Parts: sequence; C-alpha cells; structure tokens
Amino acid sequence: MPQIYPQYPPELTQEQSQYLLTTVKDWSIAHGLAVRAPASFIPEEVDPTGVVAITAPVALFPSPFPRSCFEEARAIQTAYNEIYSAIAQDEKWLGGIVEDLIKVDDFIAKLWNVHLAVQKEGYVQDLSLGLFRSDYMVHVDVSMFEGQNLDDYALQVKQVEFNTIASSFGGLSSRVSELHRHLLSANAYPLTDPPLINASSLPTNSSIISLSAGLSAAHKAYGCSRSTPPLPLCILFIVQELERNVFDQRHLEYHLMTHSEIPIFRLSFNSILNQTHIPTSNPMRPLIYTPPQLPNISYEVTTLYLRAGYSPAEYPSDESWTARLHLERSAAIKCPGILTHLAGSKKVQQVLAIPESSHLARFLPDSKVEERVRRTFARMYPLGDDSKAARHVNSMLYTDVPNMDPQMTIQCHVLKPQREGGGNNIYGNAIRPFLKDMSEHQKRAYILMEIIQPPKLCNSILRNGKVESGEVIGELGIYGVCLWRNGKNGVKKREILENWEAGYLLRTKGKESDEGGVAAGFGAVDSCLLVDV
Ligand code: ADP
Ligand code: MG
Repeated sequence: MPQIYPQYPPELTQEQSQYLLTTVKDWSIAHGLAVRAPASFIPEEVDPTGVVAITAPVALFPSPFPRSCFEEARAIQTAYNEIYSAIAQDEKWLGGIVEDLIKVDDFIAKLWNVHLAVQKEGYVQDLSLGLFRSDYMVHVDVSMFEGQNLDDYALQVKQVEFNTIASSFGGLSSRVSELHRHLLSANAYPLTDPPLINASSLPTNSSIISLSAGLSAAHKAYGCSRSTPPLPLCILFIVQELERNVFDQRHLEYHLMTHSEIPIFRLSFNSILNQTHIPTSNPMRPLIYTPPQLPNISYEVTTLYLRAGYSPAEYPSDESWTARLHLERSAAIKCPGILTHLAGSKKVQQVLAIPESSHLARFLPDSKVEERVRRTFARMYPLGDDSKAARHVNSMLYTDVPNMDPQMTIQCHVLKPQREGGGNNIYGNAIRPFLKDMSEHQKRAYILMEIIQPPKLCNSILRNGKVESGEVIGELGIYGVCLWRNGKNGVKKREILENWEAGYLLRTKGKESDEGGVAAGFGAVDSCLLVDV
C-alpha cells in the first residue's frame, strides 16, 4: 500500500505527551465527550449506581483525510437522503426485496408484519423523518498507480453502509471536532514548519445543531394536537435501558431544549406499553405519553426518535413486537418508520449497487448525480440465487483458481447479514467455514462485499485511560436529515419538505480490529484533518 499521508502522528516529548493527555481528559469531561464506564473498566460493585462517566474512546490527533473525498461525500448526502426516502415510500420495490428476505430472516419478517398490520388498518401519519448516516472508507485503487504518481481517481470514498435507524455519534462527533480545535489552540500539538495541524484543515462539524434541527422540523410539521381537549406536545426519544452512549443522545436533547423549548423525554423501549397509550376513541390515533415523574400531565408525542429497536435482542417477547406496532400505528412522526428502517438493510444497498441496473435511476432521476453516487459503491454480491453475481461468489468460495487476481479472492471480502449495530460480520477466511453447512436458500440472508482498503495511517487512541498507538483505519460518516410527506397510491406525489447534509463523524479503529463500532468497544471518535493528496 503506498504511503499517501504525511508522517503521522507527530512525535511528542514526554512532557508534551503528558500535557496533551491532561488537556484531553479534562476537556472531554468538561464538555460531555464522555460515555458511561464499561463494567470491564469500572466493576459494578465499585459503581453500583452508575454514577461514573469517562472520556469516550478518542483519537488524540485528528486523522488525515483526503479533502476531495470528504467534500464529495458531503456533497452527495442530499442525493442519498432522496434515494432512501424514495425507497421507504416505494412499497412495491422494497416489498420485492423484503419478500425474498422474510423466508430466511425472521427479524426482517417480523418488521414487515408490523408494516402489513398498520397498512391494513391504514396509516394515520403521512410525514416521515430520517436522521441518516452514510458511512464510507477511503479506498485506494492500487491498480491506478503508475510508478509513485497518484492518479486523481485513485482515491475514492466507498460506502460501507447506509444507516436509517439510530444513526449514532452525532452528539459526540461535534464535540471531538471541538476538542481537536481546542488542542490546537492550547498548543498541545507540536509546532512544525509548515504546520502539520492547522485550523483551516479542521472542518467545523454541525452535527448536533443539524440533527436537532431535523427533530425540531418534524415537531413543527406535526401541527396541532389531535386530542380533545388539546394536549401539550413533546418529542420522545426511545432508548435502550442500559445505554452507555447516553451523552451522545443527551447532546441532541439538551440542544433542542435550549434552543426551541420543546419538551423532550426519554423512554426505554421496554416501557413503551406502560407509559404511552393511544385513546381507542380517537381515530386520529395520537400517541399519549404520561411521564412517571409527572403523573398528572399527559403529552402528545409529535416525533418518535428511535435510538433502540434495531436489533433482534431487543425483541425478546411478543410484547416487544406489540410495542413496535403500537408506535408505528400512532400519529407520531417516526424517525424512522418501519419502511425506512427496512430500507436500511444491507440487501437494499447490494441491489442498488448492481452494475448497470436501473434501480438507482428509479430513485434518482438526475443521471449526473446518479453517476456520482454510483462511484461510491463498492462491489457487492448476492448469495444463494441463480444470478450471475451469485454464481461468481460460488466460484470465489469453492475454487482456488491459480493466479487469481488477489482482490477477487474470498480473503478480500466481508459477509454481512441484515443486522445493525456491529459485531455481525464474517471476514475473509472465516467466510467459507461459516457457509459450509448452509443451504443455497439460507445463504440468501447474506450479502458479500469487497473489503475497502484505506491508505496506511498511524494514530494514537485513548481508551479506558490507556493510550494505544499504531496503524489505524478511519470510517467517515456523513449525517443527513430528510423530512418527507408520503404520496398516496399514485394519487398524491411524495413531497420532500426538508433535505440537508447534517455534519460528519470520523471513527478510527486499530487496523487489526475488523469492526469499527465505538460503542461496541472497537473504535474511537475522531475528526478529520483535511489533506490535499
Ligand atoms: P453494522 O450495521 O453492524 O454497523 P457495517 O456494514 O457498518 O455493519 O459493518 C461493521 C464494520 O465492519 C464497519 O464499521 C467496518 O469497520 C467493517 N466493514 C464493513 N464493511 C466493510 C468493507 N466493505 N470493507 C472494510 N471494512 C468493512
Ligand atoms: Mg456500521
């Protein structure tokens, strides 16, 4: 792999290193760049009431990132918002993909059943909100190198996945951008000539403001109370019971409360049926929330922001599915609704990326924009069907062709099920044994994707009080906000009310770790040092 970034990170004397660490630790706690401590770090008996919070895993230096890649990823975010909001509304197209998955994936089947049940009764809310995040890595196309000269097209952002539910870290990512700026102004980075880290190469990050503005726009678009007499309105965050990444969510909540005075509440996914109800006598189905701490006041929920409900483990019983259905059939604007949630499946991403297919054009009429979006697709393959691509996968899996292009071997691929939240993928050599006893039919629950190969980079990460230094891989996420009104069976056209790019996230992980989830304990939050390469 060619070296394209400057020598990094800068070397520090012991005194400089001490000063940097002290500044990071103090600034991060003072500004909520924090997580609840994992039990492996602070045992439960030491902190039985969960009062301890620690610095979130964080990169000590902003990681170099090609400016052109960063700008391209940001520039196409509104197109991605348009695509995914259109998919979520295209029940026929999405249904075609889902119908295939439900035979092999019980979780997808149950989500789809929620949609069918509400559809039968009739949806009472035609507005939908997406707080999306499109994740990328910089891919180095080694074949594009002639000698040591870097061709313009040799560096590209390639999409890892598109998140439509619980896209996290919008709170912490603004903070880590501020931290790196602060470290620069506090002279915690060594002064070099020319300066390696300078303010003009650290992009500002609006994620807290921009994502909160999305929630606020939905709240406004909901309009008046549908209850008689009218009730005060609120936004409800649906969260996991034991959330370590709580401050990330709180940043959005606090920003909203300070700047809009909208009442915001947090409700655990497990308590939905206890603390909310839909009056049976009201055909408009407002969702009523009575906070246990304010038993005499009921609020009508305008917007449901799901930071939970994306993984099968969160649905241990039929009651959990009743709760999801209860939310979906209500008049609250869902972020996301079931169809938007389903639009984020890996299978959808793979189908969109089929070369020369017309799928993408269906959702993105502008062919120039389509071409730019298409350039971000990595190679992806279906499994278990009779397509040419699936047969190609079989040949990769089961034949060791001598002199095969190393990029085309199974070692350079990752196998993904239709899951979110990290820790579900199978990499390289583990794929063959994993699929060994599976029928062709069962394999259809997965997609195969080429491994994106980012340029070599080193950095230092502070995690649980320890500094780890070495080779790292960065994953850029671009947030997007989209508020749209669904059309009606060809009678009314879909209408996009709001659509904007909403800041960014950089997650950095050790190269030896396959996965990049910060909350899952693999990665660190980081910010971009834009470089022209
Ligand atoms: P999840 O929904 O679990 O977050 P992802 O598709 O984002 O699933 O995969 C999880 C992690 O696996 C990513 O954050 C990234 O670190 C790694 N990964 C996934 N796909 C690729 C790929 N094509 N190339 C390199 N790494 C990948
Ligand atoms: Mg991911």
